[in-house]
Amino acid sequence: MKKIQKLFPSMDGNDFQREEILSYFRSILTKIDELKDPNKLTLGEMPEYTEDYYNRVIQKADVPKKGLPMEEVIQELLKLVEGHRYVNRNYVANAAPLPNIASIIGNLVMVLVNGNNLWDVEGPAAATAEIEITSMLSKLIGYDESTSAGYTTWGGQGAVFNSLRLAIARYAPSSNQNGVPQNLYCFCSELSHYSLYKSVEATGIGVENMIRVKANVDHSMNLEDLKEKMEHVIAKGGIPLYVLATMGTTDTFGVDDIKGIKRIAEELECTYGICPIYIHADSAMGGMYTFFNNYDFESNPLLFKDNVKEVLKCYQQKFEHIKLADSMVFDFHKLGQTPYITSLFIIKNREYLKYVDLDTAETPYVGNRGYGSYHTGYTLECSRMGSALTIYASLLAFGIEGYQELLANYIRVNIAFRETLTKEISNVVITNEVSPITTFRFYPEKTRWNEEMKGILTIEEMTEINQFNDDFAEVIGAERDTVFYGNTKKQCLVKAANSNKPISVYAHKFFAISPYSTIEEVDRYVGFLKEHLAFFLKTSSNKNMILTTG
Ligand SMILES: *Cc1c(COP(=O)(O)O)cnc(C)c1O
Repeated sequence: MKKIQKLFPSMDGNDFQREEILSYFRSILTKIDELKDPNKLTLGEMPEYTEDYYNRVIQKADVPKKGLPMEEVIQELLKLVEGHRYVNRNYVANAAPLPNIASIIGNLVMVLVNGNNLWDVEGPAAATAEIEITSMLSKLIGYDESTSAGYTTWGGQGAVFNSLRLAIARYAPSSNQNGVPQNLYCFCSELSHYSLYKSVEATGIGVENMIRVKANVDHSMNLEDLKEKMEHVIAKGGIPLYVLATMGTTDTFGVDDIKGIKRIAEELECTYGICPIYIHADSAMGGMYTFFNNYDFESNPLLFKDNVKEVLKCYQQKFEHIKLADSMVFDFHKLGQTPYITSLFIIKNREYLKYVDLDTAETPYVGNRGYGSYHTGYTLECSRMGSALTIYASLLAFGIEGYQELLANYIRVNIAFRETLTKEISNVVITNEVSPITTFRFYPEKTRWNEEMKGILTIEEMTEINQFNDDFAEVIGAERDTVFYGNTKKQCLVKAANSNKPISVYAHKFFAISPYSTIEEVDRYVGFLKEHLAFFLKTSSNKNMILTTG
């Protein structure tokens, strides 16, 4: 047993065993640091992802008969790290965080004491941290912290699922016994995340009962269309149960007008005498911008320039109404720069939880004891990681102002990127509003975005432009070790001249998430595109010539 005990941290806190763990940490940190290169995206060399790569992994895998020495375990782990993408200044693809140091430490503490966030008796640190961050962030967004509740869960996706479950149970408390009623309808923007799609599948509501609402030019939900579609459902005898208000769409950062959505919901409730419609703010992408809810743009203490201030002020006007939602989410592992998974689901009225909480008779192991008073029988998980500790550490280290600086930088860099991109390249168009994300689209010759928006191009013409962008995405994707851009095949939907079916627009994505992505880097980002585009145009026009002459 002595040999097995050596695999564990000490019981008595002796120096020797601590030094041993520290030396492992040190060698991991040192090796990873050695692999870092600010001019590359990856840590060391990327493995060759041949077609049989994963098959070979499957063939080779076996649990070793005898345990390996720790040094070898570390070597094996570091082999996995070889070629890993590392979020540095060359990463401009998606909302992938570089976990900040406080969050890494918070995470480490979580693992070292390894509390179970299911029950405070088993995980007191996480329980207190969860309650504390729920209160902190409730205050920030304008929920009453004495009536709100929150828990960390499986991502923005989990928050959508959890909110839909609450909506169903609130509307039909007997549904836990009898199953979900058949006439419930959910509404979301056509640009919303697929989280709701999966959730209507899994709750049994069914995809047929998920109604997609048209988006406006600014990528927010069209409220007339929402109202019309809800009234249509009511007229057919259906129940409008739930609206997903996206606060920052995944690809374009469109922000739904939640105040307008709430107004429509209340109008309909009043006119038709229907039950309150549940509104979940899907703020997985945008929720962090509530950190500006109380920023004073007049005195502007952080000295933001006018162009940045203008955008942030506009966000303030949208995000201050998030408090109208029945629930919302903070995905810290997106713009909050913490490790996966650190998502806090917040519910405005903790009373809702009683509809989904387990009866104490159903939880014989935990919870129903004289000791311990925090038992999350209402979560879909049983055992839960204490990721509230990670978020807590991050909030303490950044403070409101630290996050404001970080979030403002995303905007600053995007504004500079837009300016430089359109100055340096003529056949490009930017296809979304200023935000932490810039979507843009290239054209073989001059830009035709206005015509596309007006719906006067044919499907064939738009498909060709999509294909052009798709091919170019492959070209720059192959060079992603230099600068890694994102892309999307559904930036928005537009009409075609010769079809009733809306056409998806392909676009490239610039998402400067790293704190090392500053305005000084912008020329390099655009230079990369310019250089590759010139080459691509040359080679693709050669191809055309071969085609026409051949
Ligand atoms: C990312 C995202 C989600 C999903 O969040 P996860 O944390 O990845 O589960 C949901 N909604 C929106 C708008 C998102 O951007």
